[in-house]
Amino acid sequence: MKPAPFDYYEPKTLPEALNLLAQFGETAKPLAGGQSLVPMMNMRLARPAQLVDLNGLRELNYLKVENGELRIGAMTRQRVLERSAIVAEGWPLLREATRYVGHVQIRNRGTVGGSLVHAYPSAELPVAMTALEASMVLRNPQGERTVLAGEFFVDAMTTSLKTGELLVEVRVPQVPSRTGWSFQEVSRRHGDFALMGVAGLLTLRSDGTIERVRLVFCGATPHRASKVEQQFMGQRPESALFRDAANLAAADLEPDSDIHASAEYRKEVAKVLARRVLEQAAARALVATQIKITTSRS
Ligand SMILES: Cc1cc2nc3c(=O)[nH]c(=O)nc-3n(C[C@H](O)[C@H](O)[C@H](O)COP(=O)(O)OP(=O)(O)OC[C@H]3O[C@@H](n4cnc5c(N)ncnc54)[C@H](O)[C@@H]3O)c2cc1C
Repeated sequence: MKPAPFDYYEPKTLPEALNLLAQFGETAKPLAGGQSLVPMMNMRLARPAQLVDLNGLRELNYLKVENGELRIGAMTRQRVLERSAIVAEGWPLLREATRYVGHVQIRNRGTVGGSLVHAYPSAELPVAMTALEASMVLRNPQGERTVLAGEFFVDAMTTSLKTGELLVEVRVPQVPSRTGWSFQEVSRRHGDFALMGVAGLLTLRSDGTIERVRLVFCGATPHRASKVEQQFMGQRPESALFRDAANLAAADLEPDSDIHASAEYRKEVAKVLARRVLEQAAARALVATQIKITTSRS
């Protein structure tokens, strides 16, 4: 299928792109990797009158660490995130989650910013960014504002981004030491969108008890199991605790039924995945703790 006619703009700088978007307002759309927008245009589900191509904006293509925080330019390709040594070392949850996004060819073109703004219900990056308590830097010609991931995702395929605003950067806080991570999902085939996905982070105290847990599920918007997260503090990381917490967290979900899976199936999968995520995150936190002890002795 072919898209409806549109005018194409190729700005070379961020201010140029922001001015074009401000000039055209609601009829314009930014184009990033095109892996979601172009199919939607071809199916006539999106009909922008103007397409503002962000691919010439080199200033939005970077990965760096500042004040311990990971800063990701919105036009950074998903594959760059997946392959970055900095990410593997400091934010391994992002690497693990990104590997589930479509196929290599999709990740080569698809951008971090595009995935977050598209906010597809079963997308991996919104869930991982919510677990990591990342924030989004949004800019228009007048200035910029920063929004936490938990407030950025408003509904299925809807964010708090306003007309004329661009997501320019994602900031991911430093992960505390003695933290383990896990991202797990179930899909019909490798590379398909998740039927259910869960991200988790678990931090241990030096005495081996749990300091903090973050547990987030795929849904219309990423669902953070905040109530359940509170119950871990000071507890020993044990299978029975993880099983009960996973059951409780999954009970709060209200997933949709569609042609791929029923809501009941998704809830059942959520329970199993949440337990596995907690167990794997705890095991990794334990390894991180032991490495720390060994290193400090040597
Ligand atoms: C076959 C296939 C399988 C896929 N499987 C998965 C999967 O398993 N998991 C998954 O998460 N995704 C999957 N995707 C989607 C893929 O991850 C896309 O790359 C992503 O959703 C959109 O990123 P993009 O850079 O391609 O954005 P685009 O498609 O260019 O844009 C998406 C939307 O975001 C807006 N936008 C883009 N960048 C910005 C910005 N900086 N500021 C403001 N607005 C912006 C655009 O206007 C558009 O509305 C799949 C895609 C395909 C084709």
